[in-house]
Amino acid sequence: MENFSSVNTSFNPSWNDWKWQMQNRITDAVGLASYISLTSRESAEIDQCLQHFRMAVTPYYASLMDPVDQSCPIRRQAVPAIAETYLAPYELRDPLAEENSSPVPNLVHRYPDRVLLLATHMCSMYCRHCTRRRVVGQEDRAITSAELERAAAYIEANPQIRDVLISGGDPLCMGDAVVERIVARVRRIAHVQIIRIGTRVPVVMPMRITSGLLAILKKYQPIWINTHFNHPRELTDEARAACAAIVDAGIPLGNQSVLLKGINDDAETMKQLLLGLVQARVRPYYLYQCDLSQGLSHFRTPVSKGVEIIQALTGNISGYAIPKFVIDAPGGGGKIPIGPEYVVAVEPDRFVLKNYTGDLYTYPNI
Ligand SMILES: *Cc1c(COP(=O)(O)O)cnc(C)c1O
Ligand code: SF4
Repeated sequence: MENFSSVNTSFNPSWNDWKWQMQNRITDAVGLASYISLTSRESAEIDQCLQHFRMAVTPYYASLMDPVDQSCPIRRQAVPAIAETYLAPYELRDPLAEENSSPVPNLVHRYPDRVLLLATHMCSMYCRHCTRRRVVGQEDRAITSAELERAAAYIEANPQIRDVLISGGDPLCMGDAVVERIVARVRRIAHVQIIRIGTRVPVVMPMRITSGLLAILKKYQPIWINTHFNHPRELTDEARAACAAIVDAGIPLGNQSVLLKGINDDAETMKQLLLGLVQARVRPYYLYQCDLSQGLSHFRTPVSKGVEIIQALTGNISGYAIPKFVIDAPGGGGKIPIGPEYVVAVEPDRFVLKNYTGDLYTYPNI
């Protein structure tokens, strides 16, 4: 493994500079070869995938990959696999029909009181399982001032919108000034109560969480952040420090994981992840069934797998650590929470319930 010592972080004075991490992202098989061992066949397969979907991995996230183990959960989230070129018959380009629920460009309005603002198509890392892979990574630009104004005008004209979720792409891979421009504009809308930011930078580029960024965000409270840890190995000291800084800035931090075959689809791995998150003061929010986006069949588990995992954990670990398992309904139905089921029977005068160990209880329905 001596070959790989060149990436040792302690010798690189720029390592903790997020702009350096962005500029030095690994975007092809040749670049990956200084982090992991690749056979010529794997390199060829990566090249083939890159004709369909783009790749970018921060040096930080690449340094977490196992250099020899192809099944490494970090590596599988970052390195293109030939399976991505296979399209299953039920897979869709836009499985959540976001384009049909978009009243103005860059905005998805699906639920009555909240909207999704797509602030950029750029990310610091392009996750291989990305649900929005049809657009993410296609164009490296942030929302323009005119587009932002149009989205803000729509929100202004719809006073029932009290929650604006700024996502993308990853809004925090943009510079402080751009982030502030967007957040400040949304905050000027009187009926917007909370602003949420969806970002994976605490996981893939934790050095982005600078005191300067947090000082900006603090000015526009209340802000909530949701991030995206999928595996306990992602909870490095750096990632945990980034989470601590966010929470210390008074920003509640949640996590949305995707259930991924061979990465986190067993109760023990999921338990380690969830307990690690709670220790880092990150509240598990959703566990997503992997969407029907194109080229993801190698990541997808049966729905029953997620139910089984949540059932195995419920009651056995703190309620704080248990996310809601959801399917984002194909066609734009929104997120639907699914099982496990604890109501065994509903009768006119009583409920029959099952507890976490499977014992039955009746409770009067009066
Ligand atoms: C997920 C999502 C939201 C936020 O939903 P919550 O359940 O409140 O977290 C809002 N709009 C769209 C289009 C979404 O996909
Ligand atoms: S950070 Fe989010 S939007 Fe970006 S590639 Fe990963 S899953 Fe997709």
